[in-house]
Amino acid sequence: MSKVLIIGAGGVGRVVTHKCAMTPDIFTDICLASRTKSKCDAIAAELNRKISTSAVDADNVPELVSLLKDYQPDLVINVALPYQDLTIMDACLEVGVNYLDTANYEPKDEAKFEYSWQWAYQERFKEAGLMALLGCGFDPGVTNIFTAYANKHHFDQIETLDILDCNAGDHGQHFATNFNPEINIREVTANGRFWENGEWKETAPLDVHRSFDFPEGIGPKDMYLMYHEEMESLVKNIPGVKRMRFWMTFGQQYLTHLRVLENIGMTRIDPIVYNGQEIIPLQFLKAVLPDPGSLGKSTQGRTCIGCIVDGHKNGERKHYYIYNICDHEQCFEEVNSQAVSYTTGVPAMIGAKMMLTGKWKGEGVFNVEEFDPDPFMEELNTNGLPWNEVFLDKKPDVLVD
Ligand code: NDP
Repeated sequence: MSKVLIIGAGGVGRVVTHKCAMTPDIFTDICLASRTKSKCDAIAAELNRKISTSAVDADNVPELVSLLKDYQPDLVINVALPYQDLTIMDACLEVGVNYLDTANYEPKDEAKFEYSWQWAYQERFKEAGLMALLGCGFDPGVTNIFTAYANKHHFDQIETLDILDCNAGDHGQHFATNFNPEINIREVTANGRFWENGEWKETAPLDVHRSFDFPEGIGPKDMYLMYHEEMESLVKNIPGVKRMRFWMTFGQQYLTHLRVLENIGMTRIDPIVYNGQEIIPLQFLKAVLPDPGSLGKSTQGRTCIGCIVDGHKNGERKHYYIYNICDHEQCFEEVNSQAVSYTTGVPAMIGAKMMLTGKWKGEGVFNVEEFDPDPFMEELNTNGLPWNEVFLDKKPDVLVD
């Protein structure tokens, strides 16, 4: 018997809600809350079991506290935006509820995300006897768990880790993002950063790129070095890695549109005055771009996200690739969402299941790689995100330096 409160009725929220609803033995009661209640009701109407819905402004701690007191969940799954992480954690502490999210906190007025703000809650969650599980989507999330799995079963010491995120899907739009446009564009336009020999090194945004031949018929795609949040916790929790990088694929059409939008100032996050009213250009841009949640119907193709690891086991050099392939159309058939929301929402549901069944437990604030990866990896295979592992003869040439 457990009650879960899902906050955020967007693309990811839809998948988490569907997947929790499909697991009634664990998630006996579900409430979906978001700023706009009609969006929760629309998702609830797609399900074949009854859930409750509610309106909540997750920027407002007293409003959250009142909802938590009223509903009394065992766990909050936060799939609103990274801006709301701290207010939701504050409310969980006040009422005594466990917490899970998929993206680390980011202040609205600065395009910067890092775990420091949330790791600072460690003592408070510990003292309250509560657990907060951070970054339990796909990346961050499954990529951390893939790394922990490789570290546990195949390596004595990981030397290099390359995380490769490929979306080989096509949504048929000139320009659209696969998840929240504001968060996505802030991430993509930031400087690249990677870990090498004990320090972070920076690159200009999307400056370093390589072509990688993705498996199972996806084929060669251009991928770009970016900073991504899972590296911050992996550097800490999987020590001794000499180099860690994150790569994401982008098509030329996406990059050309993005460059134009940046050049004309539409990706700015500082307020400008328009018709006597302050607006933030990036928020305005979000309002005119397609809602990622609406792209499911038209998106075809597959995603391939995984980790290429090399290092040593029993004195022998090993090269290893672990990945998941996810089909956009199959996701839509199952839960009315495209694969980017699906690959985020399914791990959030599995993480919640790990917490509610006590397979993962602790008091304080945790990243997913701190727990035993095995039960989570089993759940991926049975909940729509099967993974593949292959040992390579050598590290792929494009990742050598
Ligand atoms: P969407 O924009 O589709 O959905 C976000 C939802 O949050 C919206 O429904 C919105 O409600 C709600 N929301 C926003 N602000 C508030 C607020 N103040 N109070 C209550 N609800 C609010 O985003 P996605 O579903 O694409 O992404 C959700 C989260 O998942 C993000 O944090 C994103 O960074 C993360 N993510 C993580 C990934 C991973 O692999 N780890 C990958 C992709 C996304 P309304 O519509 O009513 O305004």
